[in-house]
Amino acid sequence: MEQKLINRLLAYLGIILCWVVFFSFFSTNRQNKCIVSNAAGYEMKLQSLYEEEQILLESNERNILGSNKIVVVDAGHGGMDSGTCSKDEKYLEKNINLKIVGYMKELLDECGIKVYYTRLTDKKMEPEERVEFINNVKADLVVSIHCNYGKNKDANGVEVLYSSNEERKQELTSKEFSDILKKEILSITHQNDRGLLAGDNIYIISRSKVPIALVEVGFMSNREELKFLLDEGNQQKIAMGLFNGIIRTLEER
Ligand SMILES: [Zn+2]
Repeated sequence: MEQKLINRLLAYLGIILCWVVFFSFFSTNRQNKCIVSNAAGYEMKLQSLYEEEQILLESNERNILGSNKIVVVDAGHGGMDSGTCSKDEKYLEKNINLKIVGYMKELLDECGIKVYYTRLTDKKMEPEERVEFINNVKADLVVSIHCNYGKNKDANGVEVLYSSNEERKQELTSKEFSDILKKEILSITHQNDRGLLAGDNIYIISRSKVPIALVEVGFMSNREELKFLLDEGNQQKIAMGLFNGIIRTLEER
């Protein structure tokens, strides 16, 4: 009788052990599954974050190229300093320069590039003030807009003056930047290509510590080109060329 009781107790114990083993196996399995599914989910989350991050990095990189770099756009002359003018003195260079810069601003405002303008009104600025301004804002690129005048009434086209100061070891030289701007303008306006000129005798060029391009967008002394320069559509085309040149420079460098 005692043996039967012991056997029964052993049987109960066996059943309890079986349940314990079964439950512990099941719960471990569940836990494992849980971990696996969490890990997979986490990985997926990481992956999507990474992909999003990639897109963000790429777009930031584009923005960084623009937003971290500081561009100065300088409308030549202003105020009492009219610059050059048409032969009949009716049209002043300072006004054409400012109109082009205004159109450039419309384009540059759209793409979040950090741009400083030496002037957006008809105010006079001494060359020393412009250079001080460029240095104060810690510019990376400087574009100065001007119109040309020639004794030869037939002279026409775009020329860009650069700094040939070779002491400066820049990633991008003033000459390279000038060449990009010139090409971009000409690809839109199809004006005459007068090439690049070393402009070291010009104060703003000689004193600039960063790549600078002084763009002579056309000749006010040439009757045909004056008409071209006074046309708002053409001013917009020139502005677009300059804008494209700035963007290309920022993206490529
Ligand atoms: Zn000028």
